[in-house]
Amino acid sequence: MRRKLKIAIMGGTFDPVHYGHLVAGEAARKEFNLDKVVYVPSGRPPHKQEKNITESHHRYLMTVLATTTNRYFDVSRMEIDREGHSYAVDTVAQFNEKYKGRAELYFITGGDAILEILTWKRVEDLLRQCTFIAATRPGFNLEGLQDKLSQKLPQQLCQKIIPFQVPALAISSTDIRTRIRKGDPIKYLLPENVENYIYKHRIYL
Ligand code: ATP
Ligand code: MG
Repeated sequence: MRRKLKIAIMGGTFDPVHYGHLVAGEAARKEFNLDKVVYVPSGRPPHKQEKNITESHHRYLMTVLATTTNRYFDVSRMEIDREGHSYAVDTVAQFNEKYKGRAELYFITGGDAILEILTWKRVEDLLRQCTFIAATRPGFNLEGLQDKLSQKLPQQLCQKIIPFQVPALAISSTDIRTRIRKGDPIKYLLPENVENYIYKHRIYL
């Protein structure tokens, strides 16, 4: 029998996508021997409702542009096309349905996102359906995370969150947006075709 495909979901607003997202995806692919890393730009993120978020079609296209040179990377419109809020638990369930048990699912997040996981919708359900790869990100300390989680979650679910060191890249979309507004360079923080797309469509100005 063929082994199950190992598929990782990388969720985010990707407003805009940058090298931090891409390096984390590629490092996780290598380390966990993943067959595919699927970037899933969010529709209406429950945690970011209050802020102005760029139209999904721009965020989707920028993510497509950023991932073209990696044969293991894919982009899904699943959350963008879904009605209402984006929740990881619904996305993972939809992936499971799509692969009908033929895939082992992973979910990649940065260290900041994993620290908030206890506030996510139906977190226990979510952890039963996939393994979390928590990429450490500069400025976010993962120490004590297991302690904090084990107070709230059953042991076998805590074990489904695997901390993972990625090369330190202190890049964030927030910083890139601020730089653009101030007229500062964003060169080398994100792929050049994404940078050109941003200027062409005058996003973040
Ligand atoms: P924002 O500043 O708008 O929150 P962001 O840079 O955090 O943007 P998101 O779209 O919020 O980007 O992040 C999507 C996922 O990528 C999250 O799990 C986040 O933790 C992770 N991530 C973001 N930046 C990095 C980075 N530099 N290295 C590793 N992971 C990252
Ligand atoms: Mg973020």
